Amino acid sequence: MPEHPLLSDSIHLLEQLIAHPILGGQSNLSIAHFIGNFLEQAGIDFQYVTNETGDKKAIHCRIGPAEDGGVILSGHTDVVPTEGQDWHTDPFQLTAKGNRLYGRGATDMKGFIACCLAALPKMKAAKLKKPIYFAFSYDEEIGCLSGPIVARAIRDHYPEKPAFAIIGEPTSMRLANAEKGMGVFETTIYSRAGHSSQIRSGASAIQEAAKLILWLEGKMEAIVKAGQKDDRFSPPHSTMQAGICRGGLAPNIISDQCHIQWDLRIIPSDDWQLILEEFLQFCQERERICQAKVPEFRIETIPQYPFVPALDTSPASEIVQFTKSMVIDPELATVAFASEAGQFAEAGFEAVLCGPGHVSECHIANEFIEKEQLQECLNFIDRLIEQLG
Ligand SMILES: [Zn+2]
Repeated sequence: MPEHPLLSDSIHLLEQLIAHPILGGQSNLSIAHFIGNFLEQAGIDFQYVTNETGDKKAIHCRIGPAEDGGVILSGHTDVVPTEGQDWHTDPFQLTAKGNRLYGRGATDMKGFIACCLAALPKMKAAKLKKPIYFAFSYDEEIGCLSGPIVARAIRDHYPEKPAFAIIGEPTSMRLANAEKGMGVFETTIYSRAGHSSQIRSGASAIQEAAKLILWLEGKMEAIVKAGQKDDRFSPPHSTMQAGICRGGLAPNIISDQCHIQWDLRIIPSDDWQLILEEFLQFCQERERICQAKVPEFRIETIPQYPFVPALDTSPASEIVQFTKSMVIDPELATVAFASEAGQFAEAGFEAVLCGPGHVSECHIANEFIEKEQLQECLNFIDRLIEQLG
């Protein structure tokens, strides 16, 4: 494959993006301003969408005319931590070794943003008939917190109506039209401490937490048994599991508090609210039973962030027809991770995922992206420009 003329530009931009070590949850102003300056120098009008405390900014802009039917290219500017991982190079300094470019975010997902920015002059010069939009968010890695904000900002800011959103999460440049939804919940059990010998007249927060965890597992088994599944995913059914459980002071004290954090990953045809509702009913049942012995006993469940909706874009949809001709492999894929795609769909834009890099490279030590993947992404953007020109 001949080298794409913008490959070295995209690598240079990737190097600069990676040098901003912005983790999910942290202020992203440095990387937002870097992108803002880049857009400004290219002569593109852009908007920051600033959060309430002023320390985080999403960015969106339009390249091309104010016509209906444009395409949003969406990416997130934050990355996951590197602490405790065995990195062989500085994760925040792009390091090239042969065909691989190492650095935190190379795949997830600054490679995509670098390609978008590298192709900007070409988009600008192309005399597009329908526009391309950039949508770059923050705090994706801690629950897709700003996806809905930037999607709504685009919907409300422009007089015209963009049609499609392509989320450039790593799919190895395959076209993915479905993903599971995701929610994380913290459940806290409050009881009363006591001497362990008095457990018959008390209620152990830890033991009650165990019952709730087993309920989650039982619910998952019931879903599997009932045949609620979607074979496009692996595993093909919704899952729930407790990833954190903390509580207790000593073996001879009845524990008065226990926290569990659990997640729910849902296939598009399951209803997460129904599952949560059933869980909360079980919690109420346990409260009633335990309050007979410990009147102050209670169980509280708090969502860690708004539920990230599943994505299920029809293979017959316009966006799938539109993007199929732009990828090498027209076979549709699904992804196991949650992303902002479902949120863009909820805001009224048909959405798919397609981005450079392999999901197996995400969130691990020595994350890298292959130059070929950047190249394929640049080719994809070329075809997008052609389609909209
Ligand atoms: Zn990502």
